Amino acid sequence: MPFLPEERVRSLADVRARAIADHAARWVPHYRALFRPGEIRGVADLAELPLLDKAAVRDDPAAFRSSAPDTSEGLSLRTTGSTWDPLTVFHDRRSLLLNIAYAERERAVETRFIGRSFRYLALDLGLGTTITTPQEVRAYYDRSCYRPLRPRHHSAGVDEPLEDVVATINRLRPDVVRGYGTYLELLFRTAAAEGLSLHLPKVTVYTADGMTDEGRRLVEERFGVPVLSQYSAVEVFRIGYFCEERRGHHLHEDLCALSIVGADGRPVPDGEPGEVVVSNLVNRGTVLLSYRLGDVARIVPGRCACGRTSRLLSVVEGRVSQIVHLRDGSFVHPFAVWAPVKLLDGVVRYQLVQHEPDRFELRLVTVDRATYDSVAPRVAAELRTTLRGAAVEPSYHERLEQGHGGKFSPVVALPRETVAAARA
Ligand SMILES: [Zn+2]
Repeated sequence: MPFLPEERVRSLADVRARAIADHAARWVPHYRALFRPGEIRGVADLAELPLLDKAAVRDDPAAFRSSAPDTSEGLSLRTTGSTWDPLTVFHDRRSLLLNIAYAERERAVETRFIGRSFRYLALDLGLGTTITTPQEVRAYYDRSCYRPLRPRHHSAGVDEPLEDVVATINRLRPDVVRGYGTYLELLFRTAAAEGLSLHLPKVTVYTADGMTDEGRRLVEERFGVPVLSQYSAVEVFRIGYFCEERRGHHLHEDLCALSIVGADGRPVPDGEPGEVVVSNLVNRGTVLLSYRLGDVARIVPGRCACGRTSRLLSVVEGRVSQIVHLRDGSFVHPFAVWAPVKLLDGVVRYQLVQHEPDRFELRLVTVDRATYDSVAPRVAAELRTTLRGAAVEPSYHERLEQGHGGKFSPVVALPRETVAAARA
């Protein structure tokens, strides 16, 4: 399989880095104050910019929005539940279409395992009741251009009971099943533990949040289903993807410049873990350069056996979601918890704490008390339905504290064993 030579990809990345920086210096308030057009000459210069964090963008989103006339059309996308700060990022038309085009790099791996490029069946396990980011982007694609032959897409909700999802998989017999890492892991773990008969796809692809190493081994070795992963974020869309070797994420170096920094904010040598910092090289909607993503990862030194020349990233500590186990033996993915909160304006942060198997506290940080008074009862009522009738008590907070090691978890659930013991 031919791949672009490394120099071609690097020079394209440099051209795009110059172009996005020049655009930012002209049209985006935050960068106008930092540098002038022509000053950033490539990816290496981007690494010299001061690091930007999520809070800065959340507190003043307008400072990062381009005022150029050709960037007004596109989509506003909101972060999903794996990150704890609701953040809206505007992607212009060019960013959306380029990201759709570059999806072919990822699809090429998927179709190798499937054995055909077209007319295969894909099942996406997402949120049944809310539109997810991939669904929004796909709808945009449908509106914007002619769609050639594509896999037939079906979707099922992670907020449906597990038996229903298993029944859907067995009925549709998909070639590929895609979903959140934690959810796919739990699906296969449950199938193994309960001896469920489950149609096995030719490949499975997870995004958004992570699978444990044991979970991956279970799916690959016990079920014989290869596990691919795609690393993405609302801020930059496509960051990396697994190749056939499945040793880490190959970076889309020409869409997103990525570096790994240590505690002092300076780049660390390849192989050493640090925080992921990205610059989106193509989005002129919300321009994010030298932006701390919050994940911990390392660059895998050396070349990949697959022949691709892009660097390999190993995500050390990604976004791991806590699954909520309920007294009746069912479970709820945290993205289903996030769904009713996501659509509300004025919610700054939230946290769902499971105090007892069927008693939850919903902690909310809102822009003001009046917003809390109007949204809290509604969200609590919706969550009661999501949590199969458990009690949900909302509480108002000025702020929410970080947990262990500075990591904040939007869902704090009781361990599965504790809930199971309460059932017995
Ligand atoms: Zn590879």
